Amino acid sequence: MTGTGFPRLFAPLDLGFVTLPDRVIMGSMHTGLEETGDWARVAAFYAERARGGVGLMVTGGMAPNSEGAVLPGAAGLFTREDLANHARVTAAVHAEGGRIAMQILHAGRYAYSDGAVAPSALRSPISRHVPRELDAAGIEKQIADIATAAARAREAGYDGVEIMGSEGYLLNEFLAPHTNRRSDGWGGDFAHRMRLPVEVVRRTRAAVGADFILIYRLSMIDLVPEGQTWDEVVRLARAVEAAGATIINTGIGWHEARVPTIATSVPRAAFTWLTRRLMGEVGIPLVASNRINAPEVAEAVLAEGAADMVSMARPFLADAEFLAKAKAGRAGAIVPCIACNQACLDHTFERKVASCLVNPRAGHETELVYAPAPRPRRIAVVGAGPAGIAAALVAARRGHAVTLFERAAAIGGQLDMARRIPGKEEFEGLLAYYRRAVAAADIDLRLGTEASPDLLAPFGAAIVATGVRPRDPGIPGRQLPHVLGYVDVLRGRAPVGERVVIVGAGGIGFDVATFLAQDGPSPTTDPALWRREWGVGDPALTRGGLAAEGPRPGPSPREITLLQRKPGRPGRGLGKTTGWIHRLALQGKGVVMRGGVTYEEIVPEGIIVSDGPERADPRLIAADTVVICAGQEPERSLLDALAGRGIPAEVIGGADRAAELDAKRAIDQGSRLAARL
Ligand code: NAP
Ligand code: SF4
Repeated sequence: MTGTGFPRLFAPLDLGFVTLPDRVIMGSMHTGLEETGDWARVAAFYAERARGGVGLMVTGGMAPNSEGAVLPGAAGLFTREDLANHARVTAAVHAEGGRIAMQILHAGRYAYSDGAVAPSALRSPISRHVPRELDAAGIEKQIADIATAAARAREAGYDGVEIMGSEGYLLNEFLAPHTNRRSDGWGGDFAHRMRLPVEVVRRTRAAVGADFILIYRLSMIDLVPEGQTWDEVVRLARAVEAAGATIINTGIGWHEARVPTIATSVPRAAFTWLTRRLMGEVGIPLVASNRINAPEVAEAVLAEGAADMVSMARPFLADAEFLAKAKAGRAGAIVPCIACNQACLDHTFERKVASCLVNPRAGHETELVYAPAPRPRRIAVVGAGPAGIAAALVAARRGHAVTLFERAAAIGGQLDMARRIPGKEEFEGLLAYYRRAVAAADIDLRLGTEASPDLLAPFGAAIVATGVRPRDPGIPGRQLPHVLGYVDVLRGRAPVGERVVIVGAGGIGFDVATFLAQDGPSPTTDPALWRREWGVGDPALTRGGLAAEGPRPGPSPREITLLQRKPGRPGRGLGKTTGWIHRLALQGKGVVMRGGVTYEEIVPEGIIVSDGPERADPRLIAADTVVICAGQEPERSLLDALAGRGIPAEVIGGADRAAELDAKRAIDQGSRLAARL
């Protein structure tokens, strides 16, 4: 079968001067690779995706000038040396039969520097820099610099450019009254507010010639007050087409918006209704984006006429062969992106190279290689959680004979709990993938089997991935019947009362609070409910598309209090790009969050806490149920037993180090160990 399962996805698209092989764009992602200065690595990253079937990809945002750079020193295309570096990338992609467009991103007031410029001198709530208001000469310079960057991109061998006009960056800032307070010819009514983006497209087209792909990324819904109206979106789309754009891509929400737009709790294809509404208003192809992560979802978007193309970005970090597998009728073998942001966007914000939780090779293509093993061995892996599964899959792929022991009746470990949390439904897909992959990989899976030193002794190598066990925080009264562990709660093994106190506000404390605060279906599986919960309205009714009534989360069936000993607001340690979503969601459900407590004693009526190490003001928080989410300890009993018998073993995942364990570290460690065995 060759792509027959996804006829619309694999239908070619004729752009007049070039025909694209399918309806997919690999969307722009900032990987941080260019900033390493290792351009062989940049080229390898993109080439691997072209080899995997991506017909057209867009690079991370390149600054057209220093004032437009997201950060000082961010990658751009300014010098002859830059040009030579970019040419290595384009040549590598072309050698694999792909096409590549360079995104030109002028950050406007989101530039994290004192040199930031904007339509008006208004600081963004997510920056501490007040931008300088551009004068007429400054505006002309920005247009000229963007057009020059596009011409250089062509010189460097790119097949096109994408002009970033959404997400609250410079061009979007000119469009919205929220940020454009000018009264000269570049502000005021919409004809003047859209003048800059349209002029940028016109001048860019003039600079690159007719036979060059020019994608304009257009904000369909700003999700900020005083954003654009739908009429303005349509007018801009028509003007951008007339000015010379080849394709219009979709942007959703500004970075400062308080609505999640790409996180895992956002329903799949949640925003394609906007692209669908724009269909027919312009003659050039429209691209839908955001939370499209599987070929079935992409095919459905195209089938319902919501777009001419789809953009997927993170799914190509998770699996560079996404399209090749879909085309070959092997969609079930695609490693799914779970939209967690943990190794991609969170890394970018921490100024680390982006990778992928489910695919540690992403961004590390030149260094982490799964080559055939020179001497295949018999390898025992104990524990089928994320670390053990990753190690088993990579070892088997390299030709080792792998036996995977799991004490439970199913594989998954902690993933099996994550999938039960409302908003984390994507983990179900990841688990399903792992079940298929383990079955297909010729791994001898022994479920319901407790591995012992006797069982492991005959193997050539043993990998211990026995995971973690919940920490007992030793609070007096913990043996009372209304005290539960998070495992019991998430697996539904014990009833939970209406007043709940959660001890521990790490990732699992937040997950348990989310689980217990949900009544009825998860909004992630019901887009209308989700829009209501987050206050997403219609830009045809309110500017920026924020619902006039604001967010209206469904009520929690329980009174929940989430506690931690650390002073300050719980949730600080959660993911950089997702922590705010978890905090806002729980606030919306009325969950009370307290830091700086000392646990005195659990009593039948609830829990007695005091303030800080000085234990001031002891008081009872009434609760029917107390749930302990106080972190984990490594489960090393097997490791100790092996050491006692002198049997060597490698240890990975939570069994190695439980502190700050997450699936990212577990999968990375398992994969890297198996890559060198
Ligand atoms: P965690 O994030 O390390 O949090 C443990 C919590 O328990 C903290 O709030 C800590 O706060 C508290 N604690 C630690 N020792 C304690 C003690 N002796 N007595 C009372 N409280 C104690 O661990 P986790 O919540 O179990 O999560 C495990 C891992 O899974 C984490 O690394 C987490 O990142 C990951 N995870 C991630 C997500 C996600 O959304 N990305 C979701 C779930 C889990 P105090 O010490 O201040 O009291
Ligand atoms: Fe997707 Fe998470 Fe990988 Fe990012 S880290 S690409 S969100 S699975």
